[in-house]
Amino acid sequence: MISRTYDKDLIPNRFFDKLVDITVEDLHNMGAKAIALDIDNTVAVDSFYKVFDGVPAWVDMVKKAGFPVMILTNTWTARARIISRKLGNIPFIAKAEKPDGKNFYRAADMMGVDISELVLIGDQLFTDIRGANNAGAISVRVRPMHKEYVLPIHYIPLRHREHVFLREHGFGDKI
Ligand SMILES: [Mg+2]
Repeated sequence: MISRTYDKDLIPNRFFDKLVDITVEDLHNMGAKAIALDIDNTVAVDSFYKVFDGVPAWVDMVKKAGFPVMILTNTWTARARIISRKLGNIPFIAKAEKPDGKNFYRAADMMGVDISELVLIGDQLFTDIRGANNAGAISVRVRPMHKEYVLPIHYIPLRHREHVFLREHGFGDKI
């Protein structure tokens, strides 16, 4: 069998089906003290403005439990601002260039935690999970909530590579 250790940074610390499935106890158990959220296919329909059911209530719940929470997204600023408003005006970093680590560190600084206490919750292995793992944050992968409608020519091969990787590493049931 071919060793694929070079891809180990694509393996998330935890898998969940949906953001709203993650409990405060789960967050404590993984050692998280602050939360950074991806937008597309994690909290909102890709490239649109509709937030998934239950997400604003989930954000309120984790804030009440004492977790600072913000958005860390590769999307553009105006869109991030609109999604932020729908989530109670939580802070955001747009155009984050995930998987680059610099904005993972900035998010940890903004929320006053060590990078090892920051959990990034997102749906993409090559941006969210790789970025979080390489920065030293906690990585949580949720199942993409929706098909991408915009730029499918970009996403189809990307999702295919994710699926191949997950199957090869025994996570075929997470696709
Ligand atoms: Mg996403």
